[in-house]
Formats: sequence, structure tokens, C-alpha cells
Amino acid sequence: MKPNERTIAAFLEEDRILDRVKLEDYLPVALGSRPTGALMVPVEFPSGEDIRRGIDESYADKFYSGGGRRGLLGFIDKTRLNLQRLVSTPLAFRTGLVRSAFTEMVYEHPEYRAHREWAERLGLDTYQKELRPSLDDLFIAASEDAMDRISRVMGMRDRIREEAQKRQDMSPVFLPEEMSSIFLDAVGRMLGYPQCCVEAYIEDANRGVDSGVRASEQLEDSPEDADGAAYFASYFYPCKPGCPDAISLGRDIRGRLGELRSGLDEMSAHYQGENMEFVRGYRDMVREKQREMMAKMEEIRSDETSG
Ligand SMILES: [Zn+2]
Repeated sequence: MKPNERTIAAFLEEDRILDRVKLEDYLPVALGSRPTGALMVPVEFPSGEDIRRGIDESYADKFYSGGGRRGLLGFIDKTRLNLQRLVSTPLAFRTGLVRSAFTEMVYEHPEYRAHREWAERLGLDTYQKELRPSLDDLFIAASEDAMDRISRVMGMRDRIREEAQKRQDMSPVFLPEEMSSIFLDAVGRMLGYPQCCVEAYIEDANRGVDSGVRASEQLEDSPEDADGAAYFASYFYPCKPGCPDAISLGRDIRGRLGELRSGLDEMSAHYQGENMEFVRGYRDMVREKQREMMAKMEEIRSDETSG
């Protein structure tokens, strides 16, 4: 069911949801261009950075002082915390604290509630799932079939993680499901990504290559093939800058948005162009981060030897 004119106008005015998320995740799903939209909670909220800082601070507060409440409540908090510390492994203890900081900071936040409210008003469903203790996936779908598919794919992720845990094969950096071709293929289909691009992503994963770096280098090598439409969703990497399937999907999204309301096609083209620029700068961004990390480690090392 297509949302009516007035609902769309009000949705576009909503400032608790990023415009980019409206045009990439909500409306393309409502209009049938994509089966499922996906965003990360809280990083893709307008105040995502503040909320994340809040989670860090609340975690540190809980870790060192039991939550900071005074008097008897503070005493109870501290006692509970000390008990948890005794019965959990250090990692599980910390993970539990991060998660409780996350739920406190996110679930009552007006920007979180806006997603629930708007999904309903637009006739869409949401499916939320913890990705890491401080990060959730929020999926947006229009039909029961799509919701069933999300739930199956997330069940697959749970099983892969359980298996990895049993084998004690948990890397602190890579999530175990990122190594599973079957899982990556299922996620790609679920999100409506072109099959050729999903296959390129899986091939990268098998070779231990960061797809963002690969996509960034492709843009550098053949800038003449680049078309913003191929970058129709954030964190999506087309198999090549001129991938015909990705471009036609990106154009379909623009076209349907433009039919829904004049000007939305240009707005969508703007965000797709921004996604392309993000991919273009991705490799340099990663290198810069690595340099910073190396410099920090070097600093710690020289502190240790001089002190
Ligand atoms: Zn492709």
C-alpha cells in the first residue's frame, strides 16, 4: 500500500530521522524498489554521535562506580555489580555493562521512538536485532514474507555465532558470520542487492579483502565508469563502479521517489552521490585510521621504555 501524500509530507518534515535514511531505507521499501531497508542503531540517528558518547560514559560510570546513584540505591547498584563481577567472566561482565548502558541510552530516546512510530504510519514493519552490545541492526520491511526472511537470516546468524563460540573461534575484530558465504548471500538477497555485487563481496570476504577498499580502488582506476546511482545505499559496494544492475536499481529508486513527490528524485541523487564520494575516500580514511593507531601504540611503547 502506497502511503498518502499527507503522510509523506509529514514524514519528510520529521527531524528525528535522517533524510538519507528516509530516502534509502524507508521510502524505497514502501514503494517496492527494495525488499528490506537496514540501518544501524544508534549510529544512523541524527544524534548518533552523542548517544554513542553517552553509552561510553555510562559504561565507564557503571564499571568504576556501579552507576553513580547515591544512598541506598547506589549501595544496591554496587552490590549487584560486585556480584555480577564475581559470577561472570571478565569479558561477559563488560559486555553486560555495555549492553545495559545501550538499552538505557537508546530505548527511551525520542529518535528511537520516531522509527517505531513512522514505520507504523507508513504501513511498514521493523525487526530489531543486537549486532554488538553497543550496536543494533534495525530492518524495515513491507510484507510478512520479508519479515519471515529477516527472521530466518538472523536465526542463521545466531547459529553461526553459537558454533564459533563452541569452537572458541571468536575473533575480537571479525564477526564469525562475515566469514560465511551462505550467510552473506542470504543477507545480500534480503536487502535486495544485485547478485553480481553480492558475489563480489563474498569473494572479497574469502580473500580477506575489505570490500570498501576494493570499491575505493575501482573508483580510482576507472573514474569514467562511475555513476552515483550504483551507490543506492550506504555501506553497499557495487561489484564495479559501472555495474548495470546496481545503476538500474539506483535509478529505479530515484524514479519512484520522483513520482511520489517532485524533487525527491534529485534529493535521492544527491545522497547516492554522497555515498559514492564516501566510497571514493574510504581507502584513505582506513589508512589514516591505521596510521593513528600505529602512532598511539608507538607512544605507549616509548612511555613504557622511558618510564
Ligand atoms: Zn554488480
